[in-house]
Amino acid sequence: MELIFEISKAGRRGYSLPRCDVPETELSEIYRRKASAILPEVSEPQIIRHYINLSVLNHHVDKNFYPLGSCTMKYNPKINEETSRLVGFAHIHPLQPENTVQGALKLMYELGEYLKSIVNLDAITLQPAAGAQGEFTAISMFRAYFNKKRESRTYILVPDSAHGTNPASVNFSGFKSITLPSNGEGLVDVEKLNKLMTSDVAGLMLTNPNTLGLFEKNIITITDIVHQRGGLVYLDGANLNALLGITRPGDMGFDAIHFNLHKTFSTPHGGGGPGSGPVAVKKLLEPFLPVPIISKSNDTFYFNDDISDSIGKVQTFYGNFLVMVRAYTFLRMIGDEGLSEISKSAILNANYIIQSLKDDYYLPYPGFCMHEGVLSGKHLKDLGLRTLDVAKRLLDFGLHAPTVYFPLVVSEALMIEPTDSESKETLDAFIETMKRIRREAEENPDLLKSAPHSTPVRRLDEVKAIKELKVRCKT
Ligand SMILES: *Cc1c(COP(=O)(O)O)cnc(C)c1O
Repeated sequence: MELIFEISKAGRRGYSLPRCDVPETELSEIYRRKASAILPEVSEPQIIRHYINLSVLNHHVDKNFYPLGSCTMKYNPKINEETSRLVGFAHIHPLQPENTVQGALKLMYELGEYLKSIVNLDAITLQPAAGAQGEFTAISMFRAYFNKKRESRTYILVPDSAHGTNPASVNFSGFKSITLPSNGEGLVDVEKLNKLMTSDVAGLMLTNPNTLGLFEKNIITITDIVHQRGGLVYLDGANLNALLGITRPGDMGFDAIHFNLHKTFSTPHGGGGPGSGPVAVKKLLEPFLPVPIISKSNDTFYFNDDISDSIGKVQTFYGNFLVMVRAYTFLRMIGDEGLSEISKSAILNANYIIQSLKDDYYLPYPGFCMHEGVLSGKHLKDLGLRTLDVAKRLLDFGLHAPTVYFPLVVSEALMIEPTDSESKETLDAFIETMKRIRREAEENPDLLKSAPHSTPVRRLDEVKAIKELKVRCKT
């Protein structure tokens, strides 16, 4: 214990781990070490080099541009790491009495208030640990809402451009999904919605702007149609980075939305790390929220289990608290004005890239996009190449590839999302590289087909890797 304490003091800039003060006599003999631990003898420079070298083997947003569409891989301010490591946040226990964690509860409460006001909805849960779990939570609340009204509705409409988690959440929550086709502009086909939205249908799950980066200009008509037939409308909020401070989902008629704090609000993600997917709802869904929510009485914050028709808990304890601390820090730092600057910059950056590349790559839906845009590599087929080859070649230039082959409605899709935090220099370097790869496709297609050339591992056989999964630790 002494050793851990000393390392933590030196290595973590004064943030000490709580001391483990179990008197030796209380620790049963069987748990006590019989011999000293064999620890590797390495010097500080050796260990630093080891970890620095490991850290650059993989691509990450601190290394270079990461235009992975739909994922909003924005810069993570380092102050988020400072605040989320504060002892009063990092070293508390979920079972501590409320009066000893008032600061943490206040932070959760205020974060909830900020999020509600950003989308103009009435109530919120911070419990879900990701966007997908937020979807499941909200659609389960839809189910509870219709059960309470004794209405049996079986289906939920999901556009053909939707993220795969949408139909999955529909099934998981006990509904069946019906695919709603897009029209020629890549938007919801209102005629078809009119036909499909029957009394058997509980509602619609929509992403706005959608996964093509296009804003549903008929959104009010769409939500009106669903509401007129007694249904509810859910917003997959993964693309909120396009709307901040400009327009609010509550004003568009949405009844529920999930946030991806790890996308829009600058907390790290990728690699399956902790996320956070709060769900905000209109008043009519408030009685169904998961327990507990954070409430305030006078100046005291508390876990409120008094929710009449709660769907129950969806996550151990209260969600990923330290992700909330990071999102809260980001929001406090950005402020009201900064909020709309985020979306304006994200939209400008995306259009700059798409407009600069539309003569080199095929643009299936011409016109302006929101915070992300979708190109296609289908014209490269004549050269014996695919979008995947472009994506792999980009890695040779130290850039992460855009999302490829999604959304499914675009063949050979290249979905580019630069986010708000990139400079014009970075965007120009990416555009230049994409143009260079386009020239290489003509002049030396093999260079693309055999890419990547400079990464620690070359092109993987992904199908084989999935079919013959071998997970083992090499010793
Ligand atoms: C990322 C994403 C989701 C799922 O969110 P997770 O936090 O990864 O679970 C859902 N829909 C869209 C459009 C997304 O981009």
